[in-house]
Amino acid sequence: MTHEPAPTVAQLLAFYLEAGVDCALADEPVNRLSDADVAPVREPAAPVQRPSLAALQVAAAPKPPAKVEIAPDVAIAAARDAARTAPTLEALRALMDTFEGCALKSTATRLVFADGNPQARVMLVGEAPGREEDIEGLPFVGRSGKLLDRMLAAIGLDRSTVYIANVIPWRPPGNRTPTPQETQTCLPFIQRQIELVNPDILVTLGNPSTQTLLQTKDGIMKSRGRWVDYDTGTRTIRAIASFHPAYLLRSPSYKRMAWLDLRAIAAALQALPERSA
Ligand code: URA
Repeated sequence: MTHEPAPTVAQLLAFYLEAGVDCALADEPVNRLSDADVAPVREPAAPVQRPSLAALQVAAAPKPPAKVEIAPDVAIAAARDAARTAPTLEALRALMDTFEGCALKSTATRLVFADGNPQARVMLVGEAPGREEDIEGLPFVGRSGKLLDRMLAAIGLDRSTVYIANVIPWRPPGNRTPTPQETQTCLPFIQRQIELVNPDILVTLGNPSTQTLLQTKDGIMKSRGRWVDYDTGTRTIRAIASFHPAYLLRSPSYKRMAWLDLRAIAAALQALPERSA
């Protein structure tokens, strides 16, 4: 019998990366193919044979989910019903933590709910957590988050004066684009989150967040920098779209336009009447 040559470490790493495995979950490897409930049968030591790349691909191929699939319309209706009943942000976070209607939850490390001040007058909403956010459980803590912090600082804001969340609260595997179904399932949660925070100004960061929350088909080049009304469910507030910081990292020439949006936000904030205590 002929064996395929064992993969090199570089081939293995490339295979894992392509499969969306881009971080280690523990210091020690865990053999998930071994059955922990069955006592190991001790056999005489045999020569160690490294598995072929083909065998690894079969072993790592996604297994069918053990759970019962929830129909898309049922999941969306369940999210809508659940979000509506959350009286506070804490209650909303708790029910999202136990919500089973979005498959992204099973591949993410944890829920990324929000960061910042729930009493803030400005709320920013991005698309979905990335790798660092998934690890830390906080939105915008990676490279694009660092840029966002610098952009906010340029108009005198920081995480104590803004509230930050995402349309999707669970990291899509390998940072893939969330499906329309996943977005629609998570939408009632972010809508309720905006209603509970009750900011005076809503800022959507990037195309997906803008198109989803501000219900426009326009691309970000057209929609950015324009004030529109956003109905929270209890009142109408002002909303503005701007570039996603990750986009600005890739295309720094658009920072000039992002600066115009930031200045518009700062001016709108200054013009707001004092909040009654
Ligand atoms: N990109 C987002 O849209 N949200 C995050 O939290 C991080 C990166």
